Amino acid sequence: MITDELLHHIDGKDVPSVSGATFGVSDPVTGTEYARCAAGQAEDIALAVAAARRAFTDGPWTGLSARERATVLVRIADAIEDRADTLARMESHDTGLPITQAKGQAHRAAENFRYFADVIVAQHEDAFLVGGKQVNYVVRQPAGVAGLITPWNTPFMLETWKLAPSLAAGCAVVLKPAEWSPLSASLLPEVMAEAGVPAGVFNMVHGIGEEAGAALVAHPDVPRLSFTGESGTGQIIMRTAAAHLKEVSMELGGKSPCVVFADADLDRALDAAVFGVFSLNGERCTASSRVLVERPVYEEFVARLAARADAVKVGPPSDPATEVGALIHPEHHARVMEYVEIGRAEARLVAGGTRPDGLPGGTFLRPTVFADVAPDARIFQEEIFGPVVCVTPFDTEAEAVTLANATKYGLAAYVWTADLSRGHRVARAIDAGMVWVNSHNVRDLRTPFGGIKASGVGREGGPHSVDFYSDLRAIHVAVDDLTPPRFGA
Ligand code: NAD
Repeated sequence: MITDELLHHIDGKDVPSVSGATFGVSDPVTGTEYARCAAGQAEDIALAVAAARRAFTDGPWTGLSARERATVLVRIADAIEDRADTLARMESHDTGLPITQAKGQAHRAAENFRYFADVIVAQHEDAFLVGGKQVNYVVRQPAGVAGLITPWNTPFMLETWKLAPSLAAGCAVVLKPAEWSPLSASLLPEVMAEAGVPAGVFNMVHGIGEEAGAALVAHPDVPRLSFTGESGTGQIIMRTAAAHLKEVSMELGGKSPCVVFADADLDRALDAAVFGVFSLNGERCTASSRVLVERPVYEEFVARLAARADAVKVGPPSDPATEVGALIHPEHHARVMEYVEIGRAEARLVAGGTRPDGLPGGTFLRPTVFADVAPDARIFQEEIFGPVVCVTPFDTEAEAVTLANATKYGLAAYVWTADLSRGHRVARAIDAGMVWVNSHNVRDLRTPFGGIKASGVGREGGPHSVDFYSDLRAIHVAVDDLTPPRFGA
């Protein structure tokens, strides 16, 4: 499964960095370096962008009909599913994701391609009759070379979430995977080749964000940038992109509230709250990391949440019984542990906070629950991105909304109540791009995905993604005797 060196993929070939530079990749369980990865610099990005630009202007990809491109996308989906087991093992080994949860990733990744194949085939453009004298119609054209920059959580799924719509739109792409989780992306070149994607349409440059990522952002021939990662990185990228007035799509951090009213189905709300914050090791942008509970059921809910957190099975990512695996990297583990220490001083620790018994090494942490968390606490305000949840009581609906909105983020929210009118009302009042009422996080690829405030800029998903990678041109044609004003006649 493990390659000695993970290479870039430029113009249909696997290549090392021009400079020969590499960085080490280790697995989170043993901390052992298992591979070297090519460390891209500006010159590697320049080669990849030039290849993409050539494929875009001279190659067949952009000129294919929607049906022809969709056929290739479906073959990509098939090629991914053929590698589902390998992909799951790679993802679990490289990121520490429990193997059972890693297994879902191939299906999600394949679905990304199948879905956008359907979108482009079904797509139609607008046409307008203007007062009977003019017809306007809209032509959609691929925007050019798209730069795709992705994070380390569920890496393959998020890479394909950007690759599918950009390729569907007819763009050529340069992908920069996250440096902490480059392994599964090494499947992409063979998947693309097997599916018949022409050389140069898909390019990939590995490397450190501040080097390879920054060079991709700054390259003048990359008019679209789709980024998923931290809000602070998003700000840096926007500043650089502004110099070229590039269009950016940003999926950023979150601190999503789960609001539980006393009349809710508490068993379900509890299941969803536990799953929402501890699945994917809590390294999940839409994690329900702040649970707000109405006072009459607060103590009971805290006690049940703590008991469930204690019972969640933490273990080796490769063990099918594991529910929470190893955090991605020792640096990230140290950062999450720092928040646990901050939390001990700010709130009441009711579960976790330490390594699990029997796992003295590796980046493990027991699911951790803090109760009575004040809204000005750092653990309430800041994204921890690990298996740590804050619980805070509220007395009224208005207070619940105020607390839900009391952070800089606005990605997702979850509302639990038996009163459906209240469910709708609160769903609209919370600052969030996506709200689930009486439901855990179930994604439908047709719906707009993204956040407000510090959680994002723009929307991906459904036609939004294809629009982002397209230029729409309106063509106006006179159909009758349309007389222009006669200046100077
Ligand atoms: P990160 O911002 O550190 O890195 C993301 C990517 O950006 C990596 O590929 C990195 O190499 C690159 N990068 C870093 N600095 C760069 C720079 N100056 N210029 C260009 N590229 C640069 O984020 P991360 O730690 O990998 O991921 C975790 C974050 O991602 C969390 O905040 C999480 O909420 C967020 N996230 C958001 C979503 C969403 O859809 N909203 C989904 C997943 C993760």
